[in-house]
Amino acid sequence: MAPLFDSHCHFAPGDDIAGALARAREAGLSGLLAVGGDATADAGARTAAAIAPGFALPAFGIERTEADSIPDPAALDSRLAALEEALVSGGAAAVGEIGLDYSHGEDEASRARQRALFAAQLRLAGKLGLPCSIHSRDAEEDTLAILRGNLSEDLVAAGRAGSLHCFVGSAEFASELAPLGLSFGLSGIVTFRSADTLRAVVPLLPRDRILVETDSPYLAPVPLRGRPCEPAFAVHTARFVASLLELPDDEAFALFDANARRLFAPGSSPSIPLD
Ligand SMILES: [Zn+2]
Repeated sequence: MAPLFDSHCHFAPGDDIAGALARAREAGLSGLLAVGGDATADAGARTAAAIAPGFALPAFGIERTEADSIPDPAALDSRLAALEEALVSGGAAAVGEIGLDYSHGEDEASRARQRALFAAQLRLAGKLGLPCSIHSRDAEEDTLAILRGNLSEDLVAAGRAGSLHCFVGSAEFASELAPLGLSFGLSGIVTFRSADTLRAVVPLLPRDRILVETDSPYLAPVPLRGRPCEPAFAVHTARFVASLLELPDDEAFALFDANARRLFAPGSSPSIPLD
């Protein structure tokens, strides 16, 4: 079985994290990015990394849903200082998830707080040399502007700025993101009946920037749609994306794994277990 890396998933304390990690290994996964974003998800990522060091790589961040609880620059500074401490002491592989979501009727003040939070964390990621796991929904224009203004030149040049997780954008959006050193995380959405537009975009993406993710516990892929999602299900999405790319499964899995490792675990190899 070729290796496969789940490039974006979440755990919560109280979940059967050890069981999900064991099932991920049984399914053939070589690793995963356990993504934070708020206190619950950060704690889940920390727990997963403690259970399976070198297999579950943690990411910590302050996601857009937290923006309204950060009213002014002083509050932002103190949250960022705590995040930096968590990233460094926790051996984080990435900052995330972070980004913009304008799909819930946010007013302009709320959007501005999201933008400030996103920009500040991109700068922190640059300072620490870490890629980001980025959420962008109904906010393509502002996402691009903030990425252009705040990404570290070194990470962009290395093609390691991060991933647009759960990518459902257009070919045009992708062509703006790729030169910024960003990769594209394809989730179970690509398998949904309604996703014809996304399926047409996938073969146009640069192959060395394609990642597979579950975004578990959400978005279980067909044929498991409706079940609570977990990292083991990445195999279904990966097979589906392989068919869209007209690649043999083994070749595609190895490609997605190598792409994820270049981003989140440079220097590592799936054939050399770290744990
Ligand atoms: Zn997520």
